[in-house]
Amino acid sequence: MSNEECRPFRIWIVSGPSGSGKTTLCEAVLKDKAFKNRLLRSVSVTTRALRPGEREGRDYHHVSERKFLSLIRRKALLEYENIFGFYYGTPKQIIVDAQAAGKDVLLCVDVKGAQTIRKFFGKKATSIFIKTPHLKTLSERLKKRCTEDKKEIEKRLKRVKIELSYSKKYDHVVVNDHIDKALEKLKSLLT
Ligand code: 5GP
Repeated sequence: MSNEECRPFRIWIVSGPSGSGKTTLCEAVLKDKAFKNRLLRSVSVTTRALRPGEREGRDYHHVSERKFLSLIRRKALLEYENIFGFYYGTPKQIIVDAQAAGKDVLLCVDVKGAQTIRKFFGKKATSIFIKTPHLKTLSERLKKRCTEDKKEIEKRLKRVKIELSYSKKYDHVVVNDHIDKALEKLKSLLT
């Protein structure tokens, strides 16, 4: 391994239930030039369909189940999970790209994926859990964003309790009550 490949880098894992605002917060962090220069956000691979407002290759790489299974077979994924009946996975390539660019990695994954990454990278990984102060806020946010139908929203709300039970396993918890305050807190953790 060359010196460049050995350069220490960090993995920042961000998780939180649907509607917690984790995606908005991560996007806001990456809009800040100081963080953009330091962090590389992993674009996950998924079999879920593109949602309105999403762009292929920016939010996710959308692939068929057949393609996803071939990525698993080829050991191209750091971790993967089946969530809400769809596959989601982190490409291993992100580690190579981040090291080549001299950047840290920002991963937005579910609670189980976070555990896998944490186990694999040990102290190189820091995990941050984003949550809202009340469950009611989550369901209101999910209904407001109108990207899922009623059945999908119900599925996601059922999963919230399981996800919240994992929050104790995280290094840090950010309560997203006011977006500006949560963003400041997240930035301070990433610094
Ligand atoms: P959504 O469909 O709302 O974009 O994402 C559903 C869940 O999948 C979220 O909890 C999100 O963090 C998680 N997720 C997205 N990408 C990955 C991934 O690569 N691996 C894992 N384990 N979870 C992911």
